[in-house]
Parts: sequence; structure tokens; C-alpha cells
Amino acid sequence: MSRAFNFCAGPATLPEAVLKQARDEMLDWRGTGMSVMEMSHRSDEFVAIADAAEKDLRELAGISDDYAVLFMQGGASSQFSTIPLNLLGSKGSADYVNTGIWSGKAIAEAKRYGDVNIAASSDESGFTTIPDQADWNTNADAAYLHYTTNETIGGLEFDFIPDTGDVPLVADMSSDMLSRPVDISKYGLIYAGAQKNIGPSGLVVVIIRKDLLGKARKETPTMMNYQVIADNGSMYNTPATYSWYLAGLVFKWLKEQGGVKAMGEMNARKARKLYDFIDTNDFYANPIARRFRSWMNVPFTLADDALNSEFLRGADARGLLNLQGHRSVGGMRASIYNAMPEAGVDALIKYMAEFAKERG
Ligand SMILES: *Cc1c(COP(=O)(O)O)cnc(C)c1O
Repeated sequence: MSRAFNFCAGPATLPEAVLKQARDEMLDWRGTGMSVMEMSHRSDEFVAIADAAEKDLRELAGISDDYAVLFMQGGASSQFSTIPLNLLGSKGSADYVNTGIWSGKAIAEAKRYGDVNIAASSDESGFTTIPDQADWNTNADAAYLHYTTNETIGGLEFDFIPDTGDVPLVADMSSDMLSRPVDISKYGLIYAGAQKNIGPSGLVVVIIRKDLLGKARKETPTMMNYQVIADNGSMYNTPATYSWYLAGLVFKWLKEQGGVKAMGEMNARKARKLYDFIDTNDFYANPIARRFRSWMNVPFTLADDALNSEFLRGADARGLLNLQGHRSVGGMRASIYNAMPEAGVDALIKYMAEFAKERG
């Protein structure tokens, strides 16, 4: 069986070269006679794997020594509580920007620990655009401002980095981390669940400016204390070793592809092709303001919802998988992360054109 084009939002498609390398190294990692899965996390071999992954990520994303890089567990969702526990401090209040379902979940969790000021919200537009920063209602005394760079479900993505002055900027980059160049120095903390653009689910990468360490509330669970995790090289307990290894293979692959700059160019091209097609074909529609359309997740509807299941069946038959939209919004969604080759987008557009011609 050959590999299909998998448009799943997450866990998502991984580079074929990475999966093949993992397969080849599965039983015997480089002459050790062991799988990476079976190695002690304290062994020289695994520590070398872990260090290489961090080094490659730092190089790819341009992360300076002012930041700690943590390989944590519990997915991006665990960070929704880890962040307020560590960063609210004595201020007790944080700003949040609500652009969709994922920021909504982060907000709900933060409210359990302190005051949340909604600095801006996309709800008036039905989550199709992002309010101009001049109209935000920010609190100069906030402990931090949290936003979601790319709303994976709605397909709404920031095309600018909010300017928060001295207030640390915190970003959920789960679904667009490493998809284009980003100035990391603008951020206090960035986190990304791995299963969109980095590796297997469960792992979450946290990039935190070192001056934000050591501020956790005393009741913070040890496993959620950034200082503890940083002091122990993300090995306070047994880390998700195999996921960490696989993320490292993805980072190596990204470097071979030319890094985030080359990825950004390819991702822009893939997204432009697909949106251009949707915009010029009456049968399909995407509601998001052009400027804020996601490069990673492209939701679209058919002119007649009654044709959805037929569309999906036809797509499946061609090896175009997991195009069903999120259960909360319906319609379709094509996730076109770094590992989705341009040929996958071309095949999707070809199918969409044929389907519209026959059934439109
Ligand atoms: C997928 C996703 C999450 C949740 O990730 P989990 O690893 O399932 O907790 C959070 N935020 C964004 C933007 C996502 O895309």
C-alpha cells in the first residue's frame, strides 16, 4: 500500500523520510542493539539524541540563550493551566485574546487560577477576523498576554505579532510552530503541542525566557513547575523519549529542507493555491478575512451540505484522507502542515475541481 495524503489536523502527517528513518532504526539504534524506546533516558545515547534535538530546534527557530527549551508532556492543553500557575505571580491577572476554540479553552482554564481580562475577541465577527490591535483593551499591569497564533479549528491565523511593551507575550503556537520565520525575541513564552508540525502527540515543546522561570505559585505541581523542568533538563521524571527522538528527526528533516524560511515560502504557496481555487470556484467557500487566513488549516464548505459525505467518500477513494471539518464547525478542513507536500495540495485541488464540475 502506498502512502495517502493525510489532511488530518492532528495527529497529522509526518515527513515520509522521517518515518522511514524511524523504521530503519527501530530495532537497533546505530549499533546499540536497542530501540530508542528501550533506552534509559539517562544513557549517553539518549542524552545525545535529546541534546541534538534541542540544538537543532534552537538553530531552526533562532532561539537565543536567553531562553530555556523544555520538552514536556500532557500536550498543549496541560499548558493552559501550567502557564497561569507559573506566570500569574502576585499580579493575579492576565490578558487573553479570544480568536476561537483553542484560545477559549486557554481562557476557561486560566479563570480557575486568577482574573482574566479579555483584551480582544473575534466573537463579534463569528471568529472570521482579528480586531486591530489599536482597539484592544489591554491591562498595562497584566502578568502576561496570551494569544493563539493559529486557530487550528477555525482556520484563523495572526499575520502580526502583538506589541505588549513590557508585558510578557505568551503564544500557543501548536499548529504553526516552525511553519514560517518568527522573531522569538518578541515572546516571553511559546508552547506547541507536537502533533501538528513537530512529531507525535503528548509531547509539548515550551520555549520560555529565563527571567520568567522561578515564579510558580507554591501549590504548583512539581511536574508543572517550569523552573524544576528547566533545572532537570526536562528529565525530572522520565520524559517522552521516543516522541523527543522523533521530534529530533523532524527538526533534522526541516534543516535539510532549508529551514523555516524555505518552509514559509512553500507553505505560503500551498495556501495561496488552495484559497485561490476556493475563491474562484462558486461551489466552495471559506469565510475568513483574507489577511488572517491560516496557512496551515484551510476550512471550506461545499455549496450543498448534503453532498458532504459523497465528497468525503470520493476523497478517501483517491487517498485524500481526513478532510472532514471539526465536529464543532462542520464542512471540510484541509490541514496542510510542513510535512504535506505540494503534490498533496495539487491532488486535492484537482479532486475538488472535478467534484464541483460533476455535482455543482
Ligand atoms: C491541537 C491544539 C491544542 C491542543 O493540543 P493537545 O496536545 O491535544 O492538548 C491546543 N492549541 C492549539 C492551537 C492546537 O492546535
